[in-house]
Amino acid sequence: LLFMAACEGENNIVLPVEKEESIALDTEEKIKIGFSMDTLEEERWPKDRELFKEAAEALGAEVLVREAKGDDALQIVQAESLISEGINILVIVPHNAEAVATIVKKAHLAGIKVISYDRLVKNSSVDLYISFDNELVGQLQAEEITKLVPKGKYVYIGGASTDNNAHLLKKGVFKVLQPFIERGDIQVVYDQWTENWDPENARAYMEEALKANQNEIDAVIAANDATAGGIIEALTAHGLAGTIPVAGQDADLSAVQYIVDGKQAMTVYKPIKALTEEAAKIAIMMAKGEKMETDQVMNNEKEEVPSVFLRPIPVDQKNIDETIIADGFHSYADVYKEN
Ligand code: BGC
Repeated sequence: LLFMAACEGENNIVLPVEKEESIALDTEEKIKIGFSMDTLEEERWPKDRELFKEAAEALGAEVLVREAKGDDALQIVQAESLISEGINILVIVPHNAEAVATIVKKAHLAGIKVISYDRLVKNSSVDLYISFDNELVGQLQAEEITKLVPKGKYVYIGGASTDNNAHLLKKGVFKVLQPFIERGDIQVVYDQWTENWDPENARAYMEEALKANQNEIDAVIAANDATAGGIIEALTAHGLAGTIPVAGQDADLSAVQYIVDGKQAMTVYKPIKALTEEAAKIAIMMAKGEKMETDQVMNNEKEEVPSVFLRPIPVDQKNIDETIIADGFHSYADVYKEN
């Protein structure tokens, strides 16, 4: 029998499970989900936390949240404590893709399955991966920026190299840029990872890129909106904000306001609510011992991890209202506030 888990967008995902039944809890005991988060720094993560809790609670489960504040050792200790608190399933956003593989082992020893949330746990037997299509995020950024700037000097400021998403994003960006580079139309004059996705580092890198190129930069692709914000600060300091298109992702409020102002060209909106609802549903099914199958996999250098990918949406000045605002991700008043 098939249980259809329809995700947002065109890529509907089919999850065949062994038995067809309501996912409302039928056990007496509340299912406990451990949610081990890396950080709450970027604007999206508190949303992930709240919406995931809401979705899981609406299905009768309980969520225990921990935040590792970008500290690998702390994330491991916190996960261990969640395991000893009797969670039935662990949902994890790894700070470091490799370092948390040990958590997967420990959870499995305790008979607990592990879901990799948003970011992939590498080199492990993690049970399922749910995220947006991160390579597509990078592709969407580069597609839009190359339309605006088909020739010229590009700066790429990536995410944290310890985060697998940063690699997927970069892959997507360069897949689009490659033919332009080969034709000699685009030169990537600066290409840098950003430790911990720190906007302050991104600002400094942009300063460096401007200096090395006598301010002659034509476009910037940043791995997320927080780093794009640092980059826009650097451009502002040189009177260049609004003259050089910048791309980001996450649809952070400040980024969407920059788009309205013309200081940022685009962002990629990832409907977090859909991600949390899907993840909560799957977590509960897995906690109840249902066997999940997905129609996609992602290789984590150890295994092909069954995966569920939701579709990211490119957003620029033209479609803010019908995407971010229509979805209630940000309000009209916040986005178009006088500033
Ligand atoms: C997420 C982005 C986020 C970044 C920094 C990535 O793994 O996919 O949405 O901005 O981490 O936290």
